[in-house]
Amino acid sequence: MDCIFCKIARNEIKTEYVYEDSEVIAFNDIKPQAPAHIIVIPRKHIEKPDDLNKDNSRIMQKLYNAALKIVELKKLTTDGYRVVLNCGKNAGQEVAHIHMHILGGRKFAWPPG
Ligand code: AMP
Ligand code: ZN
Repeated sequence: MDCIFCKIARNEIKTEYVYEDSEVIAFNDIKPQAPAHIIVIPRKHIEKPDDLNKDNSRIMQKLYNAALKIVELKKLTTDGYRVVLNCGKNAGQEVAHIHMHILGGRKFAWPPG
């Protein structure tokens, strides 16, 4: 499948993982929007959050368990951080493989732009 995050998961695009287990990998965003910007993905292709259902949504728990480890590892818990899921066109989802952004290391505005 011609999906950039699947290629990263299959190691066809060499990317250093920040975290990995049997179902989840995480890596630094190639265009970081903050001093810490990590992408967390399932190894298995799911296009977008709308495609989650009762049979596959447990992967979100796995993604979040990984996120908890990553924010500890990156020492983001003291000052706080942001977790983002972009869903579709209006949110600016560019990569059609479900992913969680973890952003930290600076203050973030709210509401988001
Ligand atoms: P989104 O707009 O939510 O779809 O975010 C996709 C993110 O993936 C963007 O922040 C991109 O900078 C990032 N990205 C795209 N290609 C790569 C890559 N090869 N390695 C790391 N991050 C990437
Ligand atoms: Zn994919």
